[in-house]
Amino acid sequence: NSLSISPTTAIQSPLQIFVRAKKRINDIYGEVEQYVSDSCKFLSALPKDSDLITKEELVVVNSHVEKVKGIREVLSRDHMKVAFFGRTSNGKSTVINSMLRERILPSGIGHTTNCFIQVEKSENDESYLISEDSLERKNVKSVSQLAHSLCTGSLGDSALVRVYWPTDKCPLLRDDVVLVDSPGIDVSPNLDSWIDRHCLDADVFVLVANSESTLMLTEKNFFFKVSARLSKPNVFVLNNRWDASASEPEYLEEVRRQHMLRTVDFLVDELKVCGTRTEAEQRVFFVSAKEVLQARTNEFKGLPLNTGIVTDGFHGRYFEFQDFERKFEECISKSAVRTKFDQHTKRGKAVVGDARNVMEVLLERASAKRAAKSQSRREVLDHLDFTEKQLQLVTVEMKDKICKMVEEVEHKVSKALND
Ligand code: GDP
Repeated sequence: NSLSISPTTAIQSPLQIFVRAKKRINDIYGEVEQYVSDSCKFLSALPKDSDLITKEELVVVNSHVEKVKGIREVLSRDHMKVAFFGRTSNGKSTVINSMLRERILPSGIGHTTNCFIQVEKSENDESYLISEDSLERKNVKSVSQLAHSLCTGSLGDSALVRVYWPTDKCPLLRDDVVLVDSPGIDVSPNLDSWIDRHCLDADVFVLVANSESTLMLTEKNFFFKVSARLSKPNVFVLNNRWDASASEPEYLEEVRRQHMLRTVDFLVDELKVCGTRTEAEQRVFFVSAKEVLQARTNEFKGLPLNTGIVTDGFHGRYFEFQDFERKFEECISKSAVRTKFDQHTKRGKAVVGDARNVMEVLLERASAKRAAKSQSRREVLDHLDFTEKQLQLVTVEMKDKICKMVEEVEHKVSKALND
């Protein structure tokens, strides 16, 4: 208890990679939106008979305004998603609660998660849930209320209930992580539909295994199905209930070595999601979610981490859980930036490229028109010049003629007078 364990939030969280990237891409999209809407306004204001822009080109640029709006909306909803799988009672809900630092999901005997539950941040500091079968927001103030709401629904095991939770105690939610709990993979015949509906956009998968037994075929089979649909999914394996090992310290190292060996074989040779054994070893952890949750609940109340009887090896297991969280945060953050923002970046580039092409064509046409106009102006000026000169000539000639005529008239008049 004298050991002070700093919460993961004290150190700058790797989740900030995603948070900062999201802010940056949002700012850039703000500029793209401005550019596209300015281009649109400019093009629409051109005189209809100017021949500078075709209808099709105008349609292209106009359509980008909607497209950019759509992408900005998707961007604002982009998050990092982690899905937890495992057999019933391995401790999935307890792991999620530990990571959230609060008992949010119902767990334990008497409660089995019988549908998918997605925990995400609430924008208005209220806790509520929305289930797939209705649009109604149901307020949930406590775990027991949530458990009750989940039991009363008649949802299938592939259905999704979204739980919106305030972020004050849960840094993960604040940083845009969405956590999905699932029914036990040992009880569902609908694994394919689960994958289609809940796994394809997950950035990380956590297999919550039971360290008191070895990895089961059902657990392995589920992940074979996942990796057949997704190329190289990020998989972490938590050997939970590791506190049980404390009761048999003489076998502890041997059991751990065996679990590690088999799990690494699974990740590298069977599932092929890790390139090397060292990489795979960084994905396997021996933890006790129950202890972590208890410790964090105590910590929140200002109590020592461990108030009951300290089970041997508690601090080691607590540190290992923190180590898992750190590696998980790094992995999910980088993976989500790559998969989500890479697509947005490509689309953004295409939009700006299209708008720029139209503007360039417009510029070319306008320059050609100006050149043609200045050519014809030069011709007109030349013509005017010529006319002016002609006029001058004509004027001089006329003057001579008139002078002569006047002289002749004068001559004739004076002659007539003389006569
Ligand atoms: P889920 O069905 O996989 O979501 O499992 P739960 O999280 O509901 O856990 C089932 C039971 O196992 C609960 O009574 C938990 O308190 C208990 N449990 C979960 N994690 C641990 C652990 O690390 N050690 C021990 N001893 N019990 C645990």
